[in-house]
Amino acid sequence: RQAYFRSDLSLLLERVGSGKESLSFMRRRMRRLAAQWAAAARRLDERLRSQYRVQKRILVHVGFLTEESGDVFSPKVLKGGPLGEMVQWADILTTLHVLGHNLKISLSVKELQGSLGVPPGRGSCPLIGPLPFDLIYTDYHGLQQMKQHMGLSFRQHRCHIRVIDTFGTEPAYNNEEYATLHGYRTNWGYWNLNCKQYMTMFPHTPDNSFMGFVTEELNQTERFNIKRDKVNNMAVVYGKEASMWKGEEKLLTILHRYMDIHGTVYYEAQRPPEVPAFVRNHGLLPQQELQQLLRKAKLFLGFGFPYEGPAPLEAIANGCVFLQPKFSPPHSSLNHEFFRGKPTSREVSSQHPYTEQYIGKPHVITVDFNNSQEFETAVQDILKEKVEPFIPYEYTCEGMLERVNAYIQHQVRRSWPGNPPSPFLQLPNSTALIWAPNITAPACWPPLSALRLFLSPEASSCVKTCQDAGLICEPSYFPFINSMEAFNGLNAQCESLEAEKNHVFPAVHVDRRECFQQKEPLLFSCAGVSAKHQRLCPCRDYLYGQVALCRDCL
Ligand code: UDP
Repeated sequence: RQAYFRSDLSLLLERVGSGKESLSFMRRRMRRLAAQWAAAARRLDERLRSQYRVQKRILVHVGFLTEESGDVFSPKVLKGGPLGEMVQWADILTTLHVLGHNLKISLSVKELQGSLGVPPGRGSCPLIGPLPFDLIYTDYHGLQQMKQHMGLSFRQHRCHIRVIDTFGTEPAYNNEEYATLHGYRTNWGYWNLNCKQYMTMFPHTPDNSFMGFVTEELNQTERFNIKRDKVNNMAVVYGKEASMWKGEEKLLTILHRYMDIHGTVYYEAQRPPEVPAFVRNHGLLPQQELQQLLRKAKLFLGFGFPYEGPAPLEAIANGCVFLQPKFSPPHSSLNHEFFRGKPTSREVSSQHPYTEQYIGKPHVITVDFNNSQEFETAVQDILKEKVEPFIPYEYTCEGMLERVNAYIQHQVRRSWPGNPPSPFLQLPNSTALIWAPNITAPACWPPLSALRLFLSPEASSCVKTCQDAGLICEPSYFPFINSMEAFNGLNAQCESLEAEKNHVFPAVHVDRRECFQQKEPLLFSCAGVSAKHQRLCPCRDYLYGQVALCRDCL
């Protein structure tokens, strides 16, 4: 059956239901953004007119909101707890609905069992017959619940699962045997999925799929009003909990010399939060009122926590400058409590690396907050600067619809018996190899026409190597470049060739010129890095403002 775009959200709102603060928060968001989604659907529909889009049967099981997982979030929605997840789930549900798929929502283990056809009262029963869904979106909690309740059929059906995973899961942590043997075992990883099945909130490592969320867009009148109403010396501090402001009095005092400072810190009536007296605290605001505050403000100031949330994008979309601390050394699961046990070695270079790398000046200023002179100069510069509202295309409704539609229509499992052929050609005036254009490339998505193959410098990941070439690492290409031809084409001067399980392979040992192929497809990794190896890196181009898709991907 064909999928048709939907612009009416009423059926979705009904299905989401209410009764919990978390669900009410999501419904309010869906309603507020309804017109924006409808307009985006119209535009994308125009552009994709010629494409036949298959309607999929999709189950969305929101594990962290189930009572069985403890649902620690719902009671915190009105108290400054993390709302980013709620924002993202609301937007995922809306995207799937608007794209016209056949959607079923599950918010409890009972509903999950009902959807999967598990008879009531049976703790764990193998699913009998085929899975009644083409795709299942869930999170790590939901994954655990599914494993428990699907019994043996979990293994058989797991390729249909997509895991919403805020911070990402790298291949070394995902492969159970490898993680256990080499110290990458965490509470979360080791599911042996294809890493593209993990879908992240920001484009962290291209080993995962970038799911994202949306930022509210402005119409012409709103843009005009923002320009007219901006208060040049007004700052809003990022942080819904008083603990996020702890120890920052010195910087706040400096900032207060130049600007009026506003906060949205949650507090209980009897106990005002511990923020300096000169701060005007509004208490936790409904999303819509926070938007209004950001429309007036010139500066949005982060103190380092929370990491990688939606709020900085909202601030930038409303014409604020986001000022944030650089982390030196970077924070990661090796040195920071928050990331400890998360299935990634990613190094977080600032509070919000996405805004630092993909947006940058004049919208985003990243400085060393330990140096108060640097901080003060940044504030002075911001006061002089005029900044326009900005949203990267990938965080608009149209961008999210375009991306998720491409995943749904194109991301299917393909297996390659043995090593697929890999005929390469040297690019003129370049160190990169491309797929030889006169040789028919096997079907692959993204298409192999976008492939550019590089040999990394030592101690550099493929994420970095591709980035330095203005490209992005594409893990789907690894099976095609895991060959002697690829090493030879790049003049790697192999003295020997062996196949081993290692998350930095295919690679060349720098001293011994030994070349290594990858033996375990689950370990192909863009993120992997080794001081002793130069890696083979498959890169591709990407659309401006839509890093998940290449030029020929649509
Ligand atoms: N938010 C809100 N009221 C406030 C402060 C924040 O509704 O007073 C919303 C904000 O619009 C954003 C969401 O909370 O969409 C998540 O914010 P944040 O970036 O702090 O991420 P989190 O740590 O909550 O995941």
